[in-house]
Amino acid sequence: MHEPQGLRTPAKMVAAVYFSFPLLLLPILRACRTKSFVEAAMAEDKFDVIVVGAGPSGLAAAVSLAKAGLEVAVLERGVFAGSKNVMGGVFYRHPLEEILPDFWHEAPLERAIVEQRLWMLGAHGHTGIAVRSDTFGGIKPNCWTVFRAKFDRWLAQKAEAAGAMILTEATVESLLRENGKVVGVHTNLEDGDLRADVVIIAEGANSLLLRDIGVHPEIKPNQVATAVKEIIALPAGKIEDRFNVEPGQGVTIELFGSLSRGGVGLGFLYANRESISLGIGLLTSDLARLQVKPNDLLEALKEHPSIRPLLASGSTEEYMAHLIPEGGYNAVPRLYGAGWLVVGDAAMLVDSVHREGSNLAVKSGLLAAAAVVRAKENNDFSAAGLASYRNALRDSFVMRDLKKYKGLSHFLESHPHFFTVYPDLINDAGTAFFTVNGQSKREMQRRLLKMIRQRRGLLGLMLDAVQGGLTLQ
Ligand SMILES: Cc1cc2nc3c(=O)[nH]c(=O)nc-3n(C[C@H](O)[C@H](O)[C@H](O)COP(=O)(O)OP(=O)(O)OC[C@H]3O[C@@H](n4cnc5c(N)ncnc54)[C@H](O)[C@@H]3O)c2cc1C
Repeated sequence: MHEPQGLRTPAKMVAAVYFSFPLLLLPILRACRTKSFVEAAMAEDKFDVIVVGAGPSGLAAAVSLAKAGLEVAVLERGVFAGSKNVMGGVFYRHPLEEILPDFWHEAPLERAIVEQRLWMLGAHGHTGIAVRSDTFGGIKPNCWTVFRAKFDRWLAQKAEAAGAMILTEATVESLLRENGKVVGVHTNLEDGDLRADVVIIAEGANSLLLRDIGVHPEIKPNQVATAVKEIIALPAGKIEDRFNVEPGQGVTIELFGSLSRGGVGLGFLYANRESISLGIGLLTSDLARLQVKPNDLLEALKEHPSIRPLLASGSTEEYMAHLIPEGGYNAVPRLYGAGWLVVGDAAMLVDSVHREGSNLAVKSGLLAAAAVVRAKENNDFSAAGLASYRNALRDSFVMRDLKKYKGLSHFLESHPHFFTVYPDLINDAGTAFFTVNGQSKREMQRRLLKMIRQRRGLLGLMLDAVQGGLTLQ
């Protein structure tokens, strides 16, 4: 009989123990390395870079910097990276693969998205488009649904493996400044202050540190959305049946229309492995103006005739709320200064039209890291020495996309009928078009025209189309 593959003979077992011993020691060695690295940095009282915040922007920067051989510390206020983080959440392959090629083979992902739908909700139903393509999935999927608590934790491990140090339950309370230059951070840790050549601010929405150094005044309520999200458990088989997908595949549905009651806001419904993420976000100014609570909007959304059947028999597992910076291009603050850079949501880098934020966060983290590496080579951490970050960001898709939509949010704020009149009008017109009731098609066309005239007017319709088109550059 052949000996099965694996360990059987005493000699092989001894060899296995001998060779795996260093592997068993790895975590201990890593801890010692990290400890000595921290001790060395603390004794010297200085890191090359301190990153504030372990979200996608900060962690992408940390992986990139550590791979370039710099001493990096990431300070995260949560009990672990991702513990406080919320998103819809669709995570894109690009641009993380620039530093972690093939990451999707090991990252904790939910479903690869093979179909993307856009639904305009009216009172009685919805009108929508759907794009399904094999090219979205396959061996290099375009994007996946993720849970940030799992995903960020994994990304933090990658940063650690690259040589960065992650300090959790470490809140940065303010920036240390000397002679007009940022030289480190003041934290809640026992030893308080940590110093670095550069501090990367990756704090997420509503950065207090930027405010602390006077870069960013108070964010206005019409520059930030308040979003709520529920995770609704459903068996995988039910999800696959309801969305017509195979195991491992998923669907996203972006929602707008009646759900926001005239406020500038969007909803989403994403399929995870064994749950649905359902959420809605509205400009904080509109929540105040309309006197509605996001939770009430979410409850109403769950009862909408197009949404209810997709959630049937599901049970709510988790509920969360978070801010989304939506000020766009015009609200992007100063991006760098002597000894500091700002990335991701803290820099307002969110493209809410395309529900993209995490990819802009990662890209800005990578570009910030590249600027810091250049500054280190030149030993110049002044504002001029870090300015290449702004130029690289300006030339990337990040600022180009934000620029394209720079007038849109303001336009929508002043044209609420895009969220009220049109979705219902289109839905009712579509319903009339497909209803067979003995009326001739000519009569039906007349009815449709009357509907348009009554609800918005032909002139209004034309003006909206022209003005809306002009806001897109
Ligand atoms: C409801 C919702 C749905 C979304 N859906 C999507 C989506 O589907 N796809 C997409 O691409 N984007 C989506 N986004 C946007 C996306 O989540 C963000 O753009 C992205 O997380 C930004 O990453 P970041 O690293 O800049 O900030 P964050 O992810 O917010 O990370 C910031 C980190 O900094 C930490 N921190 C903050 N202050 C301090 C401090 N003083 N000291 C130490 N640590 C600190 C926080 O705890 C956090 O871990 C969504 C956002 C929301 C709220």
